[in-house]
Amino acid sequence: MKLIKEEDIKMVDFKIVDINGQFRHVTIPASQFTVDTMKDGIGFDASNYGYAVVEKSDMVFIPDLDTAVMDPYCEISTLSITGNAMIIDYPENRPLDQYPRNIVRAAENYMKDSGIADTMLILPEFEFHMFDDAAWSVKPYEISANLDTEQAYWNSDSQGQGNVVAHQKHYHMAKPFDGTYECRSEMCLELEKMGIEIKYHHPEVGAAGQFEIEPMLGQMSKMADASMMIKYVIHNTALKYGKVATFMPKPVYGEAGNGMHVHMLLLKDGKPVFSDDEGYSHLSREAHYFIGGLLKHIASLCALTNPSTNSFKRLVPGFEAPVTVGYATSNRSAVIRIPAYAKTPELRRFEIRNPDATCNPYLCYAAILMAGLDGIKNKIDPEKNGWGPYDMNLYSLSDKEKAKLTQLPTRLDDALDALEADHDYLTAGGVFPLHLIENFIALKRKECLQLAAIPHPGEFDRYFNL
Ligand code: GLU
Ligand code: MG
Ligand code: MG
Repeated sequence: MKLIKEEDIKMVDFKIVDINGQFRHVTIPASQFTVDTMKDGIGFDASNYGYAVVEKSDMVFIPDLDTAVMDPYCEISTLSITGNAMIIDYPENRPLDQYPRNIVRAAENYMKDSGIADTMLILPEFEFHMFDDAAWSVKPYEISANLDTEQAYWNSDSQGQGNVVAHQKHYHMAKPFDGTYECRSEMCLELEKMGIEIKYHHPEVGAAGQFEIEPMLGQMSKMADASMMIKYVIHNTALKYGKVATFMPKPVYGEAGNGMHVHMLLLKDGKPVFSDDEGYSHLSREAHYFIGGLLKHIASLCALTNPSTNSFKRLVPGFEAPVTVGYATSNRSAVIRIPAYAKTPELRRFEIRNPDATCNPYLCYAAILMAGLDGIKNKIDPEKNGWGPYDMNLYSLSDKEKAKLTQLPTRLDDALDALEADHDYLTAGGVFPLHLIENFIALKRKECLQLAAIPHPGEFDRYFNL
């Protein structure tokens, strides 16, 4: 309230997370923001947020003051606050157990109770495309399906400069072939103002205008909040520059897709749990078991880390996205890559490569942690299970060699089947409520059916003239 006075803030905006990991918002005049608002919260209709309405849909939103930042995209001076959803009860309201912020915290508490570690540090990498508004009106997907040549087609001037970058040759391209440097720099500066530290930004491989922004490693629940803000800032800054940003995993056929790799490491009493000078790639037994847990549950995990039908159009050979269940150092074709450059004990870690930013970041990170802890608790050895380490290019295996290895699911429906069959590791300790998982599966099944019923541009290419 001191800040509201000092900065002459006119509006207070509450940002609430829906089941798909998208921000919704409701705004009150700053003059109405009182201590009671923080205590009693703001009422809202949770049935529009996708949560299973097991109780009444009237809920309250309690702002979490730690998340307060100025919203740079509102012309009227606006304070933005994220927070928690509560079920209305008497005498005290109860936290909505399905609310993603609550789940990520429950997963952290479950980790602490297990005695394995007290902190999980993660670094999610955000890859995205930016298209000109004008190019978007052509709809990249309409011009991107030529099945005969398996070639991507894109508006070659999609960066608005007439500087055409060759197919798949956009990685780290300097100006003038980098047409959005100012825009991305502004994104990073806005994020820094919000207290989100940035590692770097750069053009990515896809020449239709693919880019990447990475934050620094941070505590999991904080990084889940930060992930929401990173996407918010990328979407809104792009608009300021007349662009439209998308995290769609595969917006352009034949081009690199957009992943959201997640690097991770555990700390106990400030000491790295994953580091061992003698281990494969300097990783400890615990790190291997954690990887084992991720790989054992990977098919069901995909339902939460890759929850769109488009996700599986990215997980195909040849574009640095993983297709095979396995781990190795420096190998971008495997699900788990151990970066060769993370040498010091405090930085020793690995990344999971299948996730993409169509996930709900809270559910994605919590599920990753729960799968990894299950691996440590049950000593799931990835090597003994035949998941690597694979030091070869997994895209160029013969069909016979491939048949010996486990592949990632190729459709969202398959990942949902897997989640239906395998979710005890998520509900352990009551971290993921079963009704959330059931509700999520039902919502996504519906989405699969709807999308399967839409005539696809590639179908026109293949079937129109038959
Ligand atoms: N764009 C690739 C993907 O879809 C990743 C490229 C990289 O390793 O940064 O996962
Ligand atoms: Mg990348
Ligand atoms: Mg990566």
